Amino acid sequence: MTTSLDPSDWEAVRAQGHRMLDDLFDHLSTLREQPVWRPIPQEVRDRFHTAPPAEPTPLSAVYQDYRETVQPYAGGNLHPGFMGWVQGAGTPVGMLAEMLAGGLNANLGGRDHMPIAVERQVAGWMRDLIGFPATAGGQFVTGASTANFIGVLLARSRALGPKIRRKGLAADGRRLTAYTSKGAHACVARALEMAGIGSEALRLIAVDADHRVLPDAMAAAIAEDRAAGLTPFLIVGNAGTVDTGAIDDLTALADLAAAEGLWFHIDGAYGALGVLSAAIATRLAGIERADSLAFDFHKWGHAPYDAGFVLVRDEADSYATFSQVPAYLGRETRGIAAGDWWPCDTGPDLSRGFRALKVWFTLRTLGTTAIGRAIDQGCDLAQALARRIAASDELELLAPVQLNIVCFGYRCADPNRVNATIVADLHEAGAVAPSLTRIDGRAAIRAALFNHRTTEADIRTLIDQTLTFGRRAVQARAA
Ligand SMILES: *Cc1c(COP(=O)(O)O)cnc(C)c1O
Repeated sequence: MTTSLDPSDWEAVRAQGHRMLDDLFDHLSTLREQPVWRPIPQEVRDRFHTAPPAEPTPLSAVYQDYRETVQPYAGGNLHPGFMGWVQGAGTPVGMLAEMLAGGLNANLGGRDHMPIAVERQVAGWMRDLIGFPATAGGQFVTGASTANFIGVLLARSRALGPKIRRKGLAADGRRLTAYTSKGAHACVARALEMAGIGSEALRLIAVDADHRVLPDAMAAAIAEDRAAGLTPFLIVGNAGTVDTGAIDDLTALADLAAAEGLWFHIDGAYGALGVLSAAIATRLAGIERADSLAFDFHKWGHAPYDAGFVLVRDEADSYATFSQVPAYLGRETRGIAAGDWWPCDTGPDLSRGFRALKVWFTLRTLGTTAIGRAIDQGCDLAQALARRIAASDELELLAPVQLNIVCFGYRCADPNRVNATIVADLHEAGAVAPSLTRIDGRAAIRAALFNHRTTEADIRTLIDQTLTFGRRAVQARAA
């Protein structure tokens, strides 16, 4: 009897696989006919409390379960009406490449195989598009949260020397401090926590009316900390903040970092791919001066989740922070164990999937020009939405629209409750789905226009339904 986990009937699996693929194309080509999101019935949740499956279930039956209980209740980010949070929408090509990667099941920790060359090529493309020098290297990680964490670790090694890896922070005694905008993503603070430096060491610097960090205020904070005997080590610039799409003055921050001898990291989670749009690229000037850059291909790049990336100006810094060569990972000059780049030397992961393939397919089949156009389209829709908000007495814009994110509110006596109600009502109605945030302490409806499938009609629906649900929420309270 064979113990292989391969099927005994290949033809049956093949037929089932073809059905799945056909179903997926049906799904992707009819997104607009489906709701963005559906409330999940209790009966569906209840089906997920079962004992571990000791005995086999036919693939067709498990797939049927999936069709009934998982696929209809996904998070909605593919749908043209999805405008909540900062999420990519995927593409059919990305899906196919993900399938190919699954079939190959490559492990990109290291060794000599072409999947590594694919990742290397994507890193080279990004080095060229961002304008980093030939010394640069980069690799895929889960997302910008991890890429920002790596940036903090690189900065820490640069400030305290690579011995910090063995001795730990306590042995050094210096107290590190870092600087970023008040608008920075929360994962930057968490990166300092995970690095053992602590989030209290992160100075959240004030911003201007456009939510861009004030470089002079940052310089003053650095001077104050130096005077107090602390050790400034890192500036984190923002290329597209999560709430308002603000792009810091990256040139000013690069100058400040150079003058102060600090590591300059940029959180360009979604904004870095703005280099693909001529209009946004000029506003990103200075991005090419970063020591490290975190960004995601799964947002404005629309590669399937997950596809974060960290690009490092001088790959030697990555080696200094991460490389180890235990005997069981010995490097050879011939055979599978050869290879001149082992990604496990330049990042925290050993086993790594073939994330590069879906990005390689996405960039090659769509071309960077089309991706740039989709980015511009989102920014144009944001301006169209801002105009409609300005034209309505019942709505107010809560932050200047800088890119593709629009924060607005329904004007009323009780805006926190009413705007939260509107957002939940919109989600349940299933046509458009913005998210809720707070701008300067006030509840805001946040439309993040990332989806390449969104059109002006969706913007109209957002306005119309917001007004309907806003009026209803106000009346409900009055009644
Ligand atoms: C999305 C985002 C992050 C976090 O990235 P993940 O890929 O979700 O880990 C960080 N910063 C900004 C500005 C973001 O938009």
